[in-house]
Amino acid sequence: MDNQTENDVPSDAPHACPGTSSADAGQVSACAGCPNQAICSSGETRRVDPAIVEIGQRLSSVKHIILVLSGKGGVGKTTVAVMLARALARNPQLRIALLDIDICGPSIPRALGVENEQVHSSGSGWSPVYITENLSAMSVGFLLTSLEQAVIWKGPRKDHMIKQFLLDVDWGEGELDYLIVDTPPGTSDEHLSVVNYLKHVSSLSGCILVTTPQEISLQDVRKEISFVKQTNLNVLGIVENMSIFKCGKCHKESQIFPKNNGIQLLCETNHYDLLSSIPIDPFIAKCCDDGEDLFEIYPDSSTAKVYLDLAEKIQAKCQSK
Ligand code: ADP
Repeated sequence: MDNQTENDVPSDAPHACPGTSSADAGQVSACAGCPNQAICSSGETRRVDPAIVEIGQRLSSVKHIILVLSGKGGVGKTTVAVMLARALARNPQLRIALLDIDICGPSIPRALGVENEQVHSSGSGWSPVYITENLSAMSVGFLLTSLEQAVIWKGPRKDHMIKQFLLDVDWGEGELDYLIVDTPPGTSDEHLSVVNYLKHVSSLSGCILVTTPQEISLQDVRKEISFVKQTNLNVLGIVENMSIFKCGKCHKESQIFPKNNGIQLLCETNHYDLLSSIPIDPFIAKCCDDGEDLFEIYPDSSTAKVYLDLAEKIQAKCQSK
């Protein structure tokens, strides 16, 4: 059965398909001759993975889950996830967690300055690493024995790892206000796994799409948009990263990446909000490399303000949902 759509109607099914998870799957006249009829009538397609229910229970103490997605790598998705988590955590009343399921290139430990940490396992699950009192993180990077160890997860192992990450992390006592999930770039199997496991969790607030202004990045975001539409994922908005560069010496603005009104068009066509335009800022790159907190080191920088504004918008969106 290839390319299931949001209503569980495979692309190779007849027009009147009742949906693979419907009680009528495989049973109605429209199913006659459909290549999926045998599997549908066996009842297999209506079986709910028990892990989905367990994940829902495990994450029931999380108020808002936000996925950070990008069409392609290198556009700043992890940076946005980290900076957003740090910006939200400026409010000591909030408990924030970051989950790095970019399992083939986990870079959150480094960006948070905790790459030598390891997670501990107890009866209640894996304990995340605490960056500050109200900000914790879990990453496959913490499970690697050496920092250079390549992570080559294949098909079912990837899915298993993602399931384990969603199920087995013990986020601690009490409620988490925001769980920010950094996903791998593109519309890979990992995306499908994450969305399939989370789509029944009531606290899944939606996703943020990260792109640079370049057409080459926008092209991949369009594919990502088609993925989020197919999976019925709510889009909180788009973040344009590396939008302009303002010289720290002469204060002149330069457009490093070619820009037309592609992002505006994308937002208009799909009725998405452009949440933020984040400049190219050497402070960001340095903080991510050194694992430092931009809000501590450069609290008055314009980029810190842009991120605090983004955090406010995200909170408003999640609370109005
Ligand atoms: P992705 O997760 O999309 O692969 P990363 O977040 O790892 O991308 O970012 C790629 C590189 O770009 C990193 O070295 C990061 O520090 C840098 N970077 C991201 N956003 C900015 C920015 N706004 N200004 C300067 N450097 C940035």
